[in-house]
Amino acid sequence: MTSLLLTGISELLTNDPIHDGTPIGLLEDAALVIEGRKVAWAGPRLQAPTADAVRDLGGRAVIPGFVDSHSHLVFAGERSAEFAARMAGESYAAGGIRTTVAATRAATDEQLLANVSRLAAEMRRQGTTTLEIKSGYGLSALDEARSLVIAGQFTDETTFLGAHVVPPEYAEDPAGYVDLVTGPMLDAAAPHARWIDVFCERGAFDEDQARRILLAGRGRGLLGRLHANQLGPGPGVRLACELGLAAVDHCTFLDDADVAALASSGTVATLLPGVEFSTRSPYPDARGLLDAGVTVALASDCNPGSCYTSSMPFCVALAVREMRMTPAEAVWAATAGGARALLRDDVGVLAPGKRAHLTVLEAPSYVHLAYRPGVPLVAEVIA
Ligand SMILES: [Zn+2]
Repeated sequence: MTSLLLTGISELLTNDPIHDGTPIGLLEDAALVIEGRKVAWAGPRLQAPTADAVRDLGGRAVIPGFVDSHSHLVFAGERSAEFAARMAGESYAAGGIRTTVAATRAATDEQLLANVSRLAAEMRRQGTTTLEIKSGYGLSALDEARSLVIAGQFTDETTFLGAHVVPPEYAEDPAGYVDLVTGPMLDAAAPHARWIDVFCERGAFDEDQARRILLAGRGRGLLGRLHANQLGPGPGVRLACELGLAAVDHCTFLDDADVAALASSGTVATLLPGVEFSTRSPYPDARGLLDAGVTVALASDCNPGSCYTSSMPFCVALAVREMRMTPAEAVWAATAGGARALLRDDVGVLAPGKRAHLTVLEAPSYVHLAYRPGVPLVAEVIA
């Protein structure tokens, strides 16, 4: 196995507290050795071991590749007209999902695959090296299964989201739809998914339905995660904590009991500030969650309706400017936090034995991700 020494790293953000006693484990004037697919060593440049090859990164900062733990990339069509209408004053409602469902059902596998491929490449160019992809625009056994098969060509982190919204043909029979999701649709989807997710929100699925769907998924070996408390207060966050889910996503409308439940559970609160930006809505209280001791992740929620950004650097900038996270907290949440939300300990951290997923910045410091919003700062992705 050959080794590569990367040197000339102005700042190396490792997320390994061993280096500086902080969560981001920051090293200045650093070096890192890759052996095969893994990190073999990280530390001060002057203490670097020898390696088979050496590359000087010329004073650039290096961070772990972003871990985007929440995206909806399997879809057809786009909804720019709806976005324009929203910016002209209309509000966002869960029902817009049905527009994309119709387009997705009508698309060929090749069209869906091409769209995911385009978006996954877009994410990679912006520094994302691990991503989760949900189904949820098929909403039939066949269309959910094919969505997951397509997603599985890009990631192991595939999520069955048959419970995204009740499709039009079940509008008069939502209980029948839950029977479908927990029955034949789950049978078709489970072999192709690692996770199961529910949109627990007024206009989508209520607490009892969400619990039933999550438990049915668990019975088939799927791990649970949840969309909750996005559009208003609700039971979703407490349900996620009660069931011990890995993550509950959105967390925009929380009361004190929700925050306490998150703080005392191992459930990660995944914040998706691109959604609030794109729907012109109030942001979640990231500061309050962090101060209460909750583990926070940041993700893109890339989807054609409420948030069509694939950019984790943009989410970091929003988190800092709009949610009062520090740049260190935001980059940790977008890397190590995302890994926690996916129950992964092999990514999101640059330490011996971990995967060598590195994002090299065209900047001397990781702080530039928030300091220079909208600027394409990713010089290179090594993964
Ligand atoms: Zn989502």
